Amino acid sequence: MNPNDPARPESTSRPDWGWQPGFAALGPAFFTHLQPTPVPAPYWVAASTPAAQALGLTPEWLASDEALQAFSGNQLLAGSQPLASVYSGHQFGLWAGQLGDGRAILLGETAQKLEIQLKGAGRTPYSRGGDGRAVLRSSIREFLCSEAMHALGIPTTRALCVTGSPQPVQRETMETAAVVTRFAPSFIRFGHFEHFAARDQIPELRALADHVIDHYYPACRGAKNPYAALLQAVSERTAELLAHWQAVGFCHGVMNTDNMSILGLTIDYGPFQFLDTFDPGHICNHSDTQGRYAFNRQPQVAYWNLFCLAQALMPLIEDQETALAALAPYKTVYAVSFLARMRAKLGLVHRQDDTRHSESDGALIEELLGLLAASRVDYTVFWLRLTDAVACGDFTPVRDLFLDREGWDGWLLAYSERLVQSEAGSAVAVMRTSNPRYVLRNHLGELAIRAAGAGDFSVLQQLLQVLERPYDTHPEHAQWSGFAPEWASSIAISCSS
Ligand code: AMP
Ligand code: MG
Repeated sequence: MNPNDPARPESTSRPDWGWQPGFAALGPAFFTHLQPTPVPAPYWVAASTPAAQALGLTPEWLASDEALQAFSGNQLLAGSQPLASVYSGHQFGLWAGQLGDGRAILLGETAQKLEIQLKGAGRTPYSRGGDGRAVLRSSIREFLCSEAMHALGIPTTRALCVTGSPQPVQRETMETAAVVTRFAPSFIRFGHFEHFAARDQIPELRALADHVIDHYYPACRGAKNPYAALLQAVSERTAELLAHWQAVGFCHGVMNTDNMSILGLTIDYGPFQFLDTFDPGHICNHSDTQGRYAFNRQPQVAYWNLFCLAQALMPLIEDQETALAALAPYKTVYAVSFLARMRAKLGLVHRQDDTRHSESDGALIEELLGLLAASRVDYTVFWLRLTDAVACGDFTPVRDLFLDREGWDGWLLAYSERLVQSEAGSAVAVMRTSNPRYVLRNHLGELAIRAAGAGDFSVLQQLLQVLERPYDTHPEHAQWSGFAPEWASSIAISCSS
């Protein structure tokens, strides 16, 4: 599909969105109906074929001018009644009061029960001082990373496309506007609950919790305390999400409670980063001077955020002990899930009698992470080389990554002993599907952004195609799976987007 191709004929295969009442059924206390603000001269930047398929859109329609106008916010999709929702939240540990969709506009919920949002489609009643816009650079990053995470099997909101406009947008420098069309079963955040709890609007709080239970966590309805069951289910999903992030080396950068999905999805891509060298204390957000959202703090911060959610749900849960009990599984689910992911990366294939190895595998992983940190080893390259080494038996290219060769040799001995208990063939197979060749490193996004800024969208399209199959070899883009170049360290990613 090439949405940039102007020669494409207009298609009559207009999608039937089958709009559902969805979030809008909650009523006016939860949102404001409004129209996106049009942009001048919209153009296509990129579109994702798998995302289009998920939404049941034909490539022909997606390439049409009607789609371009719709996904730049210039023309409403038939039957859509757009809205911006209100939420609040804790930002950098402090209560921030009312926030809300300041630049995201919900077009509606489709027949597939997917909410579609335009991000950067103009001001809303919740824009506060903001302009309601998103710049091309950050829109490309959100688009690419949403689809990359999905392809990695990490829960995330998805992105259908990016459109651009020459409309100037003031950030540190003057940039241009873009709109990301994103979708998810729900964009409800912890902050939505905090909003109504903080205002003592208990009927609305209950309606929101009931909506979330009925639509996304129906199993909680039968529990003795459905709201405590909801809290526990969200805690467990969040724990799984954090295990994914830590295992793949993903740093979110702005884990405020308004950026925490009630479905345990990665949401609101801002100054995120995939680690290059393994630095546990890495801070990817240049505005995060205290390092609150440093890589190794993420699991703890998620737990802190769940506490905020628990507090917001207290009027419904009522009993404090019950709420604490609902939060408790977070730590075990996280630990078990993280261990399972790291074992898979190491090719320690799970077998029936495997539980007896849990403790020693935990120690093996801890020690490895310590060695990676001490030698500042490239995280993704390490796992790729380790996989190749297990496949061919030559560990020299892995050893070369370490300054502390003795430390590595000692670890390798213990690992080799443990590895012989897994069948070699199945170990490599698991490693190949657990260690991505391609992650959206900062400099790769930057290459796509720079080319796009000059009107060349081919790098972005190629990068998207590679990231859609991150475990495969893409010989024509082998360099994208290697070390970050020298200049990558000078890329500064702030909150500004
Ligand atoms: P974030 O942490 O970037 O997800 O955003 C925090 C809050 O600021 C949310 O309520 C956003 O909707 C709002 N916001 C961020 N950027 C803008 C903008 N350019 N215009 C209006 N609101 C914005
Ligand atoms: Mg946000």
